[in-house]
Amino acid sequence: MIKYFFKKDFVCKCGCGAGKLDVRLLLFLIDLIEAKVTIKKISSAFRCSSHNKKEGGASDSKHLYGLAVDIHVSKDLATLVIIKNILKKYDLRYLDYPWGYHIDTGRIPIKIIDIYNYLS
Ligand SMILES: [Zn+2]
Ligand SMILES: [Zn+2]
Repeated sequence: MIKYFFKKDFVCKCGCGAGKLDVRLLLFLIDLIEAKVTIKKISSAFRCSSHNKKEGGASDSKHLYGLAVDIHVSKDLATLVIIKNILKKYDLRYLDYPWGYHIDTGRIPIKIIDIYNYLS
């Protein structure tokens, strides 16, 4: 079992309880923690379609498919260098926001997991 994260970090924030995630995103987050990057908050991971609408997400947002996570981290350069190195390892991409980074896989899912089977 994975000790750093819990189901509640990844399920849809509307309370519907749904939660799936491309496994590369989970591996990326574990590497970040092991590289001593502090993740202050995962503000969004999986979103069901009604929650995505409410959040004003794009109609084809990668959050709908478990292909994106939004992480709140320090915006200093050292942190960004670490993040970029780990992104390369898993072939992931990022978008820059004032609060941190949106991380996604691009269009192609590799292995979508149901987080209920992996996290407590
Ligand atoms: Zn929901
Ligand atoms: Zn996002």
